[in-house]
Amino acid sequence: MEGAHLVDVDVHEDALEDGEAEQEDGQQHRLPRKSADEGEDDQEERGRRKDESEHPVGLDRGAAENVEADKEELHDDAEEEEDCQPVEEHSRLRHAGILPPMAVVTQREFGLFIDGETVEPASGEVRELTEPATGAPLAKAAMAGEADVDRAVEAARAALEGPWGKTPPNERSRLLHALADAIVANRKELTELETRNVGKAVSSVKGEVAVSAENFRWYASAIASIAGRTTPIGGSILAYTLKEPVGVAAQIVPWNYPIMMAAWKLAPALAAGCTVVLKPDPATPLTVLRVAELAAEVGIPAGVVNIVPGDGPTTGSYLVQHPGVDKVAFTGSTATGSEIMRLCAEPVKRLSLELGGKSPNLVFADANLADAVPSSVYAIYYAAGQSCDARSRVLVERPLYDEFVNSFSETAAKMKVGDPLDAETQMGSLISQAHRDKVHGLVETGRKEGAEVITGGEPTDGDGAFYPPTVLAGVENRMAVAQEEIFGPVVTVIPFEDEAEAVRIANDVKYGLTATVWTSDPGRGHRLARQIKSGVIGINLPNTAFPGLPFGGYKQSGFGREGSLETIEMYLETKTVFVSTGGKPVNPWGL
Ligand code: NAD
Repeated sequence: MEGAHLVDVDVHEDALEDGEAEQEDGQQHRLPRKSADEGEDDQEERGRRKDESEHPVGLDRGAAENVEADKEELHDDAEEEEDCQPVEEHSRLRHAGILPPMAVVTQREFGLFIDGETVEPASGEVRELTEPATGAPLAKAAMAGEADVDRAVEAARAALEGPWGKTPPNERSRLLHALADAIVANRKELTELETRNVGKAVSSVKGEVAVSAENFRWYASAIASIAGRTTPIGGSILAYTLKEPVGVAAQIVPWNYPIMMAAWKLAPALAAGCTVVLKPDPATPLTVLRVAELAAEVGIPAGVVNIVPGDGPTTGSYLVQHPGVDKVAFTGSTATGSEIMRLCAEPVKRLSLELGGKSPNLVFADANLADAVPSSVYAIYYAAGQSCDARSRVLVERPLYDEFVNSFSETAAKMKVGDPLDAETQMGSLISQAHRDKVHGLVETGRKEGAEVITGGEPTDGDGAFYPPTVLAGVENRMAVAQEEIFGPVVTVIPFEDEAEAVRIANDVKYGLTATVWTSDPGRGHRLARQIKSGVIGINLPNTAFPGLPFGGYKQSGFGREGSLETIEMYLETKTVFVSTGGKPVNPWGL
């Protein structure tokens, strides 16, 4: 669910335009201003970058227009706040003490969010978070331990049995709309917080924040669809079904889309009437904690949303096994999902899993390359490849192979990689140096397996966790680089002879999350949509997600669907009620 696959819709721009209000404490959260000289230098630098800028890659026309609009707004923002600097400069100024070590988010420490308020962790653990793009200090964040999880589950249970359980659907809907409005009103702060915390390009994060608001809005409306049904079964019996919230939901999300994953999880749970204890990744809890604060501000009762950042194997595992938890919803790696499934087996906990992917992108010789090449670049390098739906296996029909590899590599090499806070940046940093080492290790494995590195393939120097867009050609589908989720800006390009072989290679992987097909033959597009085993298929379009449409995996990419009516069902129990309408004795054995 690459965010930009969600970004290229008018609705997001509209959402942003709706809410011009700044947060009340905007002054406190503003970026430090620079001296006049520094400001002038930056203006010059921004002008130069704008002149040099390429047209955005990988988007259809409507999407490109939106991105241009985004850029304009971001430039406005930048001029207003003077927040765009080359990443090295940013880093240098901070290290030299010219910029304070703290920026928008570092004005405060982040506690846990339990029972409607920010609290100190019983664990006593507070971690220093750094910006992956610069290595500079970012914020301090509290980490939850077992006692904190106990407290959060207790608060969630009390809210379920208390105020939230008594809140009627129309009021839940109003509150979700209010939370969407609050996210829009605070979008600048949330966008900057997320960009600094994750290192992703601000142009992407802007869309992800907007779509998070949109997601709450969609579920606010979808509440109206929650209903049982009456079924005529004859005789003097009335039979109907009731939909009831599953109860307390434990939700665990990864670091790659913190706010969007939290919105995907929280909104359907609250729509269904559940209460939540959500564990973000310990490295990226900041926007999720702000969303919880906003939830309280708009009037969502205490205990409905609880946020407990912490380590997976300890805090996460404890939360999953907590006897007060009725349902577990997990997004993350297949290995962790498998472990969580084991933990849920004995108590037979309700479970949904959104896991990894190694998604194919099939390019047939009859494809329109003017769309297929830039869109294929976009589909792998969005979020620096740190997306579950990254189309990381590009399969190309043999006669087109060399031309496609050249054109793809040239386009990838032109991407703007750099300061995540620069509005022109298309790819920011990876989440950490450690993750970059892992990505590079897999590229090295590819080299040893016989893959040819056409572009990229070496970590970028400097403090930030940057890795260039990398293309591996001459890849066979059996190689580790074609089978394992690299979760970085690395694509493998594999040739195929005909349609049957394309389908075979596309399906020859343990995952089945998304796929894209490029062909000018509509019949082939529909044929492949049925033959490829994955939860989402795009035909001549890189998009994978939109509020209201199911997103999820086949095979080891998990089970359950996000973003849709199917998701609400995962938070509901269905109860069947039989009622005698009288008229004859109820005495089955004639006793
Ligand atoms: P991860 O599995 O290491 O961690 C995900 C979350 O699980 C984190 O919050 C982590 O702290 C927690 N966790 C780790 N071990 C745990 C345990 N034993 N018990 C409970 N919780 C535990 O994954 P990651 O590296 O953070 O995220 C990347 C993975 O997520 C990739 O595989 C990616 O494809 C997947 N992902 C999937 C989707 C989707 O919708 N299918 C979306 C985003 C990311």
